[in-house]
Amino acid sequence: MAASAKKGASQSSHFPGHNPFLESVNAYFDKAASIMDIPQGLLDQIRACNSVYYMQFPVRIKGGIQVIQAWRAEHSHHKLPTKGGIRYAMTVDQEEVQALAALMTYKCAVVDVPFGGGKGGIRIDPKQYTEEELERITRRYTVELIKKNFIGASVDVPAPDYGTGPREMAWIADTYQAMVQDDINALGCVTGKPVGQGGVRGRTAATGRGLFFAVREAVNDPKLMKKLKMSTGLSDKRVIVQGFGNVGYYAAKFLHEAGATVVGVIEWDGAIVNPKGIDINALQAHRMATGSITGFAGCKTIKDGNSVLEHECDILVPAALESQIHKGNAAKIKAKIIAEGANGPITSEAEPILLKKGILVMPDMFVNAGGVVVSYFEWLKNLSHVRFGRMDKRFEEGSNMRIVDTVERLTGKSLTLAERQVIARGADEEDLVNSGLEDTMIDSYHTIGEIYFGNPKVKDMRTAAFVSSINKIATSYMSLGIFP
Ligand code: GLU
Repeated sequence: MAASAKKGASQSSHFPGHNPFLESVNAYFDKAASIMDIPQGLLDQIRACNSVYYMQFPVRIKGGIQVIQAWRAEHSHHKLPTKGGIRYAMTVDQEEVQALAALMTYKCAVVDVPFGGGKGGIRIDPKQYTEEELERITRRYTVELIKKNFIGASVDVPAPDYGTGPREMAWIADTYQAMVQDDINALGCVTGKPVGQGGVRGRTAATGRGLFFAVREAVNDPKLMKKLKMSTGLSDKRVIVQGFGNVGYYAAKFLHEAGATVVGVIEWDGAIVNPKGIDINALQAHRMATGSITGFAGCKTIKDGNSVLEHECDILVPAALESQIHKGNAAKIKAKIIAEGANGPITSEAEPILLKKGILVMPDMFVNAGGVVVSYFEWLKNLSHVRFGRMDKRFEEGSNMRIVDTVERLTGKSLTLAERQVIARGADEEDLVNSGLEDTMIDSYHTIGEIYFGNPKVKDMRTAAFVSSINKIATSYMSLGIFP
């Protein structure tokens, strides 16, 4: 990398914003940047949010007209399209969307997904609207994005985030297809769609599954476990999960199924704890039946749910919203590892307190990247217009069968039909998606690990992830010829 210009010489090195989340993201960036040899102008460009579109539009709600506020931020155009979810929440404002878009840029680079970062948001509480009203709001938002060229398979590709899911993505895809009729890649304008409408199998569980792969890799790393004075493996690990939405539920499920003991689950209306372990599949059935995790049989319900963040455990998974671990509660956290399922759950003021206590923080930009990794696969599927596995599944089965036949002939032993089927089965779409996700998470863990253990200036895993990410983005800008 070229010799750096004097650090701090630039005007924009002190970000003037007042949103603690955006300030945290920028503070983390600056911390990593300060130990890197990259020209300040290039660092400024990497950190800056390239464009933000703020819109207000009228929607007919309950017989009247309501003016809705919404945003879409494209943080970095060093790779296209830009990519990131759309959030429906009352917390949404310009700086929140910018912070989330910046995280998307860093996240995509960490896991080698060739997109710039983006994020959108509508300031509404989705629980206050009927399905029909939500559909009107979503479709109108999409029209606004189309009008300003803030959506399209080669431009900017939204996905689900807090408060949205496959249903909203289907409305977005349908609106886009109706309005942009000559785009052969129209379905690639949004990811996280239902499988019947151009989605990919495995996308819904992807963020939680990716988190599971990341945590499993960490606890199976003897060097890391030695540093943390912990034994390797998941079987003796107690886990607390905050948030039982799409990310928290699947993370808890996969950790539970792999042998970890989930001792606490926190939701907005209370938490449940059981030191002997919570059966996550049964808990999900209870939540589906009652609408809440509270009151689950065999568990103690705790009204002040967030107090459970401070309970004894080995792995804490904050998988709800940003700024949940702050300078007010950081000193009381007893977990040994925090795996950030949410975006920005730890403020930059809280992190030094945690690190001083010897807690390992596994950063959001790596740990929760599974969603965008599988979004990338969905986008590739949409662009190639073919389901993964369609071309090779049967061929693979035929080859496997021929190997089985040969082994049987040479050994004189024969397998049962069931055994033959298990061995010969060709990979279908979900197998390929999950295998691609697993490979990406394992690879990224080791790339970050090399920096974490190998660079003496790097003291924590978030900084290691930022160093990896910033280096890749800087290289990309240089190859574009924008910076010498
Ligand atoms: N909203 C998710 C995130 O924060 C997914 C983004 C995407 O798939 O584009 O990573």
